[in-house]
Amino acid sequence: MSETIFSKIIRHEIPADIVYEDADVLGFRDVNPQAPVHVLFIPKQALATLNDATPEQASLLGKLLLAAAAYAKREGLAERGYRAVINCNEDGGQTVFHIHVHLLAGRKMHWPPG
Ligand code: 5GP
Repeated sequence: MSETIFSKIIRHEIPADIVYEDADVLGFRDVNPQAPVHVLFIPKQALATLNDATPEQASLLGKLLLAAAAYAKREGLAERGYRAVINCNEDGGQTVFHIHVHLLAGRKMHWPPG
């Protein structure tokens, strides 16, 4: 996988507002938030898109979602609710090719998305 801005955040080479970290996952605030709470959860291990995930990475994908849920519970967002999104490739709106879960909360979400 080629280098992305998120690799630099993992290595602390560029600043990020890190709000969650465990052995496998890093969570930091999106620089261009789309909701009052907008946090990106990324694996420390390189993985470009959901398309590239292998069965061996099933647990890693689960850890990303569980990290988002743990953060939402910790921050008191879980009961009102939130949205967790993975964008994949061009039509999905993916712009950074290091897989990430967007956690959006703090306002009412609309469906269908634009
Ligand atoms: P995507 O469009 O790939 O699903 O989401 C990429 C997200 O990364 C966007 O919401 C964008 O605002 C965010 N982003 C891009 N560059 C940076 C950065 O350098 N720092 C942070 N914190 N977020 C970034």
